Amino acid sequence: NAPLAEVDPEIAQVLERELDRQRSYLEMIASENFVPVSILQSQGSVLTNKYAEGYPGHRYYGGCEEVDVAEDLAIARAKDLFGAAYANVQPHSGATANAAVLHAIARPGDTLLGLSLDQGGHLTHGMKINFSGRLYNIVAYGVDPQTSLIDMAEVRRLAIEHKPKVIIAGWSAYPRQLDFAEFRAIADEVGATLWVDMAHFAGLVAAGLHPSPVPYAHVTSSTVHKTIGGPRSGFILTNDPALAKKIDVAVFPGQQGGPLMHVIAAKATAFKLAASPEFAERQQRVLSGAKILAERLMQPDVADAGVAVRSGGTDVHLVLVDLRNAAVNGKEAEDLLHEIHITVNRNAVPNDPLPPKITSGLRIGTPALATRGFGDAEFTEVADIIAHALLPNPDIAALGARVAALAEAFPLYPGLQQ
Ligand code: PLP
Repeated sequence: NAPLAEVDPEIAQVLERELDRQRSYLEMIASENFVPVSILQSQGSVLTNKYAEGYPGHRYYGGCEEVDVAEDLAIARAKDLFGAAYANVQPHSGATANAAVLHAIARPGDTLLGLSLDQGGHLTHGMKINFSGRLYNIVAYGVDPQTSLIDMAEVRRLAIEHKPKVIIAGWSAYPRQLDFAEFRAIADEVGATLWVDMAHFAGLVAAGLHPSPVPYAHVTSSTVHKTIGGPRSGFILTNDPALAKKIDVAVFPGQQGGPLMHVIAAKATAFKLAASPEFAERQQRVLSGAKILAERLMQPDVADAGVAVRSGGTDVHLVLVDLRNAAVNGKEAEDLLHEIHITVNRNAVPNDPLPPKITSGLRIGTPALATRGFGDAEFTEVADIIAHALLPNPDIAALGARVAALAEAFPLYPGLQQ
């Protein structure tokens, strides 16, 4: 039982350097966050040793009395947090949660209607070489090229034309709220099951700062590691008892073997923290920061450089930047920001003329910096830094120094040594 540094110095160094990287860069990937130390503890605990196939009280292995307590807590807290009658907290990730959802509500060959990947949807919503695109017949809706908003009339038209078994509402890159009532009305009109994937905005829902899909959707899936800021994993909610049974079977044994009990314990803690006033206050800063960023990137200096904000703003935790008329493409802008120690990801814009590895856009999110402690003043500063980075001939050294000052003022994991 020698320590990692002795057993495997190469990996120990990866951990150490990664902690340094996270401390010295400003993390603005919209799907990332920083878990609290309490969650690192569960994830690095002896719970990782335990096999617990089955569900609490009905396991296929002995010795599950303690992990049952953890899973029961995670289930109860997920239900409370989102006002759902049933929760399955076993999915290893958002993608496996989504695979289980489809396993429960559709059969291979059925038609699914979802937001296309290049317009902001997720791989599991029907991308061609993903399991969803290979097993199901996919019909995709998109966003209006003028407004960048999902066109609900188009969703309805496609639903009536194709009679999908499942309508998927949810996104990975979309800066506005969805109209869940309208999605449900369309689903009811054509006899479809409505599945909402709230992976990105679940933290905002938990804080009461975004409408909840749970009362409208037949089934809701999510990740725990994006806006919620918990361990990397997924979960599924429903209010329908018959569907709940199907989902349990679809997750285990349909989709997975042994659940990751160390992660499930960490999910329980994440849901507990997400019910606190501090969490709601943090999500408020997430939203406010994104609005500040959008506003700054719409100022004349940036707009004159050909940089645009899709949909003219945001009401969630991210901003989509359109660089089609700018001097830099998505990849170049991502690299430029990396150089000054801001981490973002390039992102396709609708009808992007450039390939997915380059793209003409950026997706910039505020959850991780809000967790780090940023408020309006710091988001104003970081927004101005990004704006200047996207102008012609940016002063990399000066911008890098401003980033370093922010990172230093908000130490990450103080005292932690990996
Ligand atoms: N669903 C949506 C909407 C997502 O954006 C993502 C991740 O980016 C996922 C599902 C998949 O989550 P994971 O990466 O945990 O598989």
